[in-house]
Amino acid sequence: MKQDYYDILGVSKGASDSEIKKAYRKKAIEFHPDKNPGNSDAEAKFKNAAEAYEVLGDNDKKAKYDQFGHAAFDGSQGFGSGGMNMEDIFSQFGDIFGGGFGGGFSGGFGGDGQRRSKGSNLRIRVKLTLEEIATGVEKKVKVRRKVQAKNVTYTTCTNCKGTGQTVRIANTILGRMQTAVTCSTCSGTGQIISNRPKGSDSQGMIQEEETVSIKIPAGVEGGMQLKVSNKGNSAPGNGVSGDLIVLIEEHPHSRFMREGNHIHYDLYISISEAALGISKEFDLLDGKVRIKLESGIQSGKTLRLRGKGLPDINRYGIGDLLVHINVWTPKTLNREQKQFFQKMMEDENFIPKPEKSDKSFFEKVKDMFA
Ligand SMILES: [Zn+2]
Repeated sequence: MKQDYYDILGVSKGASDSEIKKAYRKKAIEFHPDKNPGNSDAEAKFKNAAEAYEVLGDNDKKAKYDQFGHAAFDGSQGFGSGGMNMEDIFSQFGDIFGGGFGGGFSGGFGGDGQRRSKGSNLRIRVKLTLEEIATGVEKKVKVRRKVQAKNVTYTTCTNCKGTGQTVRIANTILGRMQTAVTCSTCSGTGQIISNRPKGSDSQGMIQEEETVSIKIPAGVEGGMQLKVSNKGNSAPGNGVSGDLIVLIEEHPHSRFMREGNHIHYDLYISISEAALGISKEFDLLDGKVRIKLESGIQSGKTLRLRGKGLPDINRYGIGDLLVHINVWTPKTLNREQKQFFQKMMEDENFIPKPEKSDKSFFEKVKDMFA
């Protein structure tokens, strides 16, 4: 006849969750096998208490037990016949004694034991023209990476049996606690090098030059970093490669100045072109653009061409092209030209009469800070 679970823990049927937990904690400490070495009676009591708590500590199972007694768990549930094994009991401790203990146990018994080592990252700089940034570009770069030498072989580490971890046992007030630690023989890789070709380092690695193709999206900016996964140094054995980190740099452009996704361009026109108006075509980073300048356009005026700048790297649209008008004044004049301008100087129409729309530089700055 199986003993009643409530009797095992020494609590009443109406006991609360925390009372049940507390009772189990007391029994677990009292009958812990390491505190009672060689005492089979204590071990049986320890197991019984764990089994009782497994049911009473779970609302669902507790309800079934309250209704059907031990019959609720005959056969299918796995209790009753063999009872719980020690690993089950220890893994249950996490719930009872707090997370700190749980971690140690689940680490020791968990299935994901093997840690794969990772190779180090490599860094390179790639310098781009504004034209390349405007369209995006694929760059081929030569990288010296550490890779596994040919014919290198590894055998499973015997110290940790390939798991990369060993179990350390420490004595605490709760008895023996197991914690997983990195294997010192293989440094956690789970492998030991068994054949190492000439020229390779102690881990069977060699330096090798490789051409890596890097897809650089349009709109990148100097200072940005791109990551090419697994193109850094390899790790020995079954480890994973590090990454190749690409630092973007920009060549300054001879005609364009970049400001985020906007492009600034200084357009120089002659006095005659400013006076008469003209249609101008010029090369952009990617294609051409034609703009029409009204007659009487003022030097210092800025024309904004929407969507003619750089594409945003996150695809939030395209920046603008800002064309700054500069009227170019000739430095020397021949006799005829001198006479012409002399005449114009006296002409009423050539005396500056700036309008509101021809704001001066200082007024524009004032507007910016308003
Ligand atoms: Zn090992």
